[in-house]
Amino acid sequence: MNALRCPLVPCSRENDPTATNCSKCGTPLRQHARLSSHAARLFNRGLEAARAGQAVEAAEQFAAVVLWHPRDLDARVALGWCHLSAGHPDDARRQFEIALQQSPGLALAVRGLASAVAPRRSARSADRTDAAGAGRRKPRGKAKKRMARERRRGRRR
Ligand SMILES: [Zn+2]
Repeated sequence: MNALRCPLVPCSRENDPTATNCSKCGTPLRQHARLSSHAARLFNRGLEAARAGQAVEAAEQFAAVVLWHPRDLDARVALGWCHLSAGHPDDARRQFEIALQQSPGLALAVRGLASAVAPRRSARSADRTDAAGAGRRKPRGKAKKRMARERRRGRRR
């Protein structure tokens, strides 16, 4: 069985996999593991909702994740994009600003912030894609490949 690493970074003690509390700092390991898997479920539910175009439902899921894990940047940025899609640029801006405090220059947050402060820029469909776009391939790459293929074909003829 794998050792159970203490989730507190400064501690990081490898504990016995059956341990209830960290042997070094006393952090409750079981509760933390349950909490993390719950957050992952909420995050995935949020992604599904975002992909289905249900921005408000998605925002609720992501908001719950960042409530428990305030430094979860993926969830926070996704929350920002969902707020944008739902037509709440002020809420979106707040999330992007917090994300940028935690990770200055974070590209998705920079773009989100720009969208949030740009007046009456209608970006519903594009933003929905971004909110659900974590780890997903962008169609841009495919289009590029197709163009390259067509170019090659054209040269041969
Ligand atoms: Zn510990």
